Amino acid sequence: MPFLFDPPPVPSLPVAGSNQRFPIHRVYAIGRNYADHAKEMGAQAVSRANPVFFMKPADAIVPEGGTVPYPSVTHELHHELEMVVALARGGRDIDVTHALDCVFGYGVGLDLTRRDLQAAMKAKGLPWDVAKGFDGSAPVSALRAANETGHPRHARLSLAVNDHVRQDTDIADMIFPVADIIAELSTLFELKPGDLIFTGTPAGVGPLQRGDRFRAELQGIAVLEGRIV
Ligand code: MN
Repeated sequence: MPFLFDPPPVPSLPVAGSNQRFPIHRVYAIGRNYADHAKEMGAQAVSRANPVFFMKPADAIVPEGGTVPYPSVTHELHHELEMVVALARGGRDIDVTHALDCVFGYGVGLDLTRRDLQAAMKAKGLPWDVAKGFDGSAPVSALRAANETGHPRHARLSLAVNDHVRQDTDIADMIFPVADIIAELSTLFELKPGDLIFTGTPAGVGPLQRGDRFRAELQGIAVLEGRIV
């Protein structure tokens, strides 16, 4: 039976050095994965026992940045610089010792956040979706295949806005490393090829205004450049 109307296109990301694209299934994200950011947000002591997960729509991805529209309703759009993990394999209850076998590659992205709405939702104990899942909320670089780079345990992760460094860390500071995130997520959801995971932001989150230029880099792996319009 035919569809009532044309189904939407499959969101995707380019793969560096390839003419093939990575088709996106779901976009997961972990919160509070760097102690210095959890502290700046006023979170209670971060526990290894309870990771915080949320999701963004797959069509919120802005491939390779470019121009990102300033979203409606908010007066406090914040950048959150994050390493992004792309899965080529999935499963349920994935053992942490095999979790990296699921990884296709890595990129860098911004988990854009309507911080004022998030604060209002948090204060009322309500879901964060309107703060995190808006259109254009997830600019992500081209992906680089892990069979080229290996699985980085240390890499500088940095963000400059209008040539001023705002966030600068090493992914070695993540509370839950990539393998742990995959293992934990797979207890909650059946992971699939095409899933992306935002791995959390370090300290230094802050506002973006119309006209701001951003440049995010996961050293040796990926660069994301764009502008808020
Ligand atoms: Mn985030």
